[in-house]
Amino acid sequence: MPSPNRKKILILGATGSIGVQSLHVVEQLPDEFEVVGLTTHRNVERLLEQAAKHRPQVVAVTEAGVSSGQRALFDDFGARVFSGPKALEKIVHESDIDLLVNAVVGSAGFTPTLAAVERGTDVALANKETLVMGGSLVMPAAEKHGCRILPIDSEHSAIFQCLMGEDRDTVEEIILTASGGPFRALPKEEFVKVTVEQALKHPNWDMGPKITIDSATMMNKGLEVIEAHWLFGVPVERVRVVIHPQSIIHSMVAFHDGSIKAQMGVPDMRVPIQLAMTYPERKPSAFPRLDFKTRSSLTFEEPDLDKFRALALAYRASEEGGSAPAVMNAANEEAVGLFLNKVIRFDQIAESIERALDAHKAVQNPDAQMLIDADRRAREFVRTEMV
Ligand code: NAD
Ligand code: MG
Repeated sequence: MPSPNRKKILILGATGSIGVQSLHVVEQLPDEFEVVGLTTHRNVERLLEQAAKHRPQVVAVTEAGVSSGQRALFDDFGARVFSGPKALEKIVHESDIDLLVNAVVGSAGFTPTLAAVERGTDVALANKETLVMGGSLVMPAAEKHGCRILPIDSEHSAIFQCLMGEDRDTVEEIILTASGGPFRALPKEEFVKVTVEQALKHPNWDMGPKITIDSATMMNKGLEVIEAHWLFGVPVERVRVVIHPQSIIHSMVAFHDGSIKAQMGVPDMRVPIQLAMTYPERKPSAFPRLDFKTRSSLTFEEPDLDKFRALALAYRASEEGGSAPAVMNAANEEAVGLFLNKVIRFDQIAESIERALDAHKAVQNPDAQMLIDADRRAREFVRTEMV
């Protein structure tokens, strides 16, 4: 008999890289979780397999159509089907859950996170775009409604762990580690020739296509600087990026007495996913262990902000504040889509972001609708100006 105290979870973006690994954690700890809901954008086949196995009460498909045959199958598995672009918010509102796992990619994750937080529901957050776009709304709402935003992103999980038992006022600096991606050693002049296939090969992590491209441009680290700022309440000037190609140290916190804490492990996203899902407990796992016999060195270097302009632009957007990070994020998402479809070049991703920021006058203290509008307009700007 499964325990009656299982945590009720809803996984948004269940069919993606983080979603699948979250379900792997559920399978490893079957007494801990009850899967109440699962969603996909268009991978209905995979969602059906997941529904057959986990028997959620609800599923949602945000983009693709659901055939009557597929509906009948979901029905057989006991799942109500929601569809359409507003489906995620709807299912967050209608489900009785203890934890939302947000593994959606892109700014589409923002409104469902905000909906969960406004209901006082804890969120295990992979969707960093939520905080880049609307950290100014999500964090105060979490505080007001007494719920937690638990980081899944490996760097932020590391920082979260380094801060356990520490007074936040003693933090001098957050040190985010970055692998540097596949083009760490490539001269800047070569960026114009980078192909989609080259950019999709990440040295250390196997992830969805958008974050893989973000890692290649280092926009991912830019998004993570802003994510860290909101999660831990540290100004971006005190969030520093250090290149660490081995991805063993997942990030560090420097304290005001000169001490630095680091969190390490093999690069395996299931470790931070599991901690976010089981928090405040730390459950055992059988995931691979770090073997020091095969690790001879850990190395560190400074990032090249002239080469990786996207990272510099994230600091700029954060300093402009208000709606600027939402514009940066949306312009990046649109440009990455255009690059993946071979419409623009790799080096034009950073150019798209810069031009979108140049064209935007940041609105301070935006509400959710203003952020959604800024996101839409930045996408239109990139589509009309860059193509
Ligand atoms: P992915 O592309 O593999 O999966 C994305 C999921 O979201 C899929 O289930 C897809 O169906 C769904 N989705 C896509 N577009 C959507 C939309 N517009 N509306 C609703 N659902 C949509 O991506 P991923 O690699 O799993 O990344 C998910 C999030 O986690 C991203 O924010 C990413 O930055 C973050 N993240 C990922 C990793 C990783 O190792 N993959 C690590 C750290 C953080
Ligand atoms: Mg990360």
